[in-house]
Amino acid sequence: MPVPLLDIGRQHAGIRNELRAVLEAALDSSRFIKGPVLDGFEERLAAYCGTSRAVGCASGTDALILALQAAGTEPGDTVITVPFTFFASAGAVVRAGGVPAFVDVLPGTLCMDPAALDEWLDTRCEPTPDGPVVKGSRSRVRAVIPVDLFGQVADMDSIGRTCAKWGLALVEDACQSIGGRWMGRRAGSFSLCGCFSFFPSKNLGALGDAGAVTTDDSDLADRIVRLREHGGQGYLHSEVGTNSRMDALQAGFLTVKLGRLDSWHEGRRRNAAFYDRELAEVDEVSVPVIDPAAWSVYNQYTIRAVDRDGLLEHLKSRGIGCAIYYPLPLHMQECFRWLGFREGDFPVSERAAREVISLPVFGELEEMELREVVDAVKEFYSRRSSGRGAG
Ligand SMILES: *Cc1c(COP(=O)(O)O)cnc(C)c1O
Repeated sequence: MPVPLLDIGRQHAGIRNELRAVLEAALDSSRFIKGPVLDGFEERLAAYCGTSRAVGCASGTDALILALQAAGTEPGDTVITVPFTFFASAGAVVRAGGVPAFVDVLPGTLCMDPAALDEWLDTRCEPTPDGPVVKGSRSRVRAVIPVDLFGQVADMDSIGRTCAKWGLALVEDACQSIGGRWMGRRAGSFSLCGCFSFFPSKNLGALGDAGAVTTDDSDLADRIVRLREHGGQGYLHSEVGTNSRMDALQAGFLTVKLGRLDSWHEGRRRNAAFYDRELAEVDEVSVPVIDPAAWSVYNQYTIRAVDRDGLLEHLKSRGIGCAIYYPLPLHMQECFRWLGFREGDFPVSERAAREVISLPVFGELEEMELREVVDAVKEFYSRRSSGRGAG
């Protein structure tokens, strides 16, 4: 029996009529960009995340770029993030005019290592009245982007303390973790801004591209509202922004889905708990490590596996959807060669890239399907060890 990595159709089956009603309402109103439907979604999203404001935009990537620009990133400023993440966490830095710097992730949670961040700042930077400056390059450090990876919020207490101490903007890449919590508080509420993606495969997915920035700073929110429309008010422009509006249709679809989001999280968490139990007995596999302070929404269920590539092939041959998030850390990407990093610079990220594999975890999976995935994993390792025994 094949098991898909993600089947959004199953989620949509239960809300098809509501989604259709959104389309009908948009046709009736002829308001296709922003408008009252977006206003309503932004209010609900802010309430859900526990912030005073949310600003919709065209994608999670744009959310990061807009947040960095609103946080005052100027050409040549350094922005620190992690190498083990989706490309946009660092790509957005360059698009905002900045220079990415990396600190490694923790070997367990695979989120930013707060001690590595402290060490980077302590050893590479000197404080100035204008904020920390990188010794040698004289680049001002402007912001830190921790990533809430696979649905787990990063250690926001430690990272937040460091940012406060150095006067750095904390921009949370919460694209994979809407609804995820740290000490009971929701993703996107810890920092100057939280950045969200509503790409269809995220826990809250649009029927296309969309994103948002959350914040408690209303001046910053107003600035992002301007920046998403060319930095202007009317036809007067105080700075150069971009076109990154959210369609009313997407805002409508997302409003329908936001009401179901917590129940979908429960499905993912139930499935993750099933795998945690069943895979505990497989020595060659480590299940995801979740910090006791975190409550993950499992955008991905990502294990570490001995002979990962062999397991990937085996699962594929059994029709089981699986994927490698992420096969090449960002410091080793060709487009960042100019930054001068080398293999070996971030060993925890590099090792993770060799060992990780993500299994189907979406909320509508049936127990039979979960069982199928677990059986295929077990089958691979029992064959592998018996094969080895036979020489
Ligand atoms: C999905 C994602 C993004 C980018 O979001 P888009 O909506 O695809 O632009 C950024 N960062 C992370 C960690 C993501 O998973």
